[in-house]
Amino acid sequence: MKTKNCYYRPQAGSYLSAIAAALVIAASACAAETRPLVIAHRGASGYLPEHTLAAKTLAYGLGADFLEQDLVLTKDDVPVVLHDIYVDTVTDVAKRFPERKRADGRFYALDFTLAELKQLRVAERFNAKTGKAVFAKRYPSEASPAEFRVSTLEEELQLIQGLNRSTGRNVGIYPEIKQPKWHRAQGHDISRIVLPILARYGYATKPDACFLQCFELTEVKRIRGELGWKGRLVMLLNGRGQEADGVDHDALCTAAGLKELAAFVDGIGPALGRIVTWSSASERKMTDLVKQAHALGLVVHPYTIRVDDLPKNCPSAEELHAAVFREARSDGVFTDFTDVTLAWVKK
Ligand code: CA
Repeated sequence: MKTKNCYYRPQAGSYLSAIAAALVIAASACAAETRPLVIAHRGASGYLPEHTLAAKTLAYGLGADFLEQDLVLTKDDVPVVLHDIYVDTVTDVAKRFPERKRADGRFYALDFTLAELKQLRVAERFNAKTGKAVFAKRYPSEASPAEFRVSTLEEELQLIQGLNRSTGRNVGIYPEIKQPKWHRAQGHDISRIVLPILARYGYATKPDACFLQCFELTEVKRIRGELGWKGRLVMLLNGRGQEADGVDHDALCTAAGLKELAAFVDGIGPALGRIVTWSSASERKMTDLVKQAHALGLVVHPYTIRVDDLPKNCPSAEELHAAVFREARSDGVFTDFTDVTLAWVKK
């Protein structure tokens, strides 16, 4: 089922013109109804440290249709927007709280209260062992202003809804429940905490501008069943087989697996490699995963387009977008580069 939400899209020539355009309150053009959705993966993470409110604001200004929130819990059960259960690859936690690492040497968000996490400075992603930036040409880690902080789910929802009000747009949210099995093993039920917050902010039914996503089938079933989620739900599919809950994602990508999923999800979010691979720059191989999913009424939002980290052998960002949209006919895509993907989609 294609989303029927209406989105205004600014002209994205440069960041500045896109931001300026986004600030012009314009009548909705309903263009998105017939074309794929641009989902800002962790915000405009190609340009600013992932999941900071600055990265979300930029993605909004660049014209994203949906902004993604990865969610983990703090010690005092507050959902915060972080990609990992660890905080040592995007913050200065190792300097600020050196004694708080676990036996495995890692620093976990769940071991810190929100007040403690708020003391950390968030920076561009780096390797915790070497200190080297993961993406060499992105925002410099050492230049992160003090204002870059861990934000809560509620703070981010307030920002997006505030911008929706001031611009007249209806940019959606795309929250992900991270590692629910691990959270529950630690005594914290993340889904049970997140769902009521989403409902309180008006995200609870299918017409609402929200897709809830998760990698663990066990939890996806629980969210739809036991926890009674009535909004749109997306099953994420990894590129490599078994997930943390023991479920084999290769099996979920078969005709039988997809049919099982279609009984309770609205869409799938597969790794790009499950849709297209390149054995060499001139040899592309497409799968029929999108076609099979569409036949079952599922939307397909693959992840992740990174123009500075293309799939193996993929010759260009242009070729990647062409494969995802023109060939595979995906309904949207997660992208680190909202402006690049939006420009392609509008073309
Ligand atoms: Ca995610």
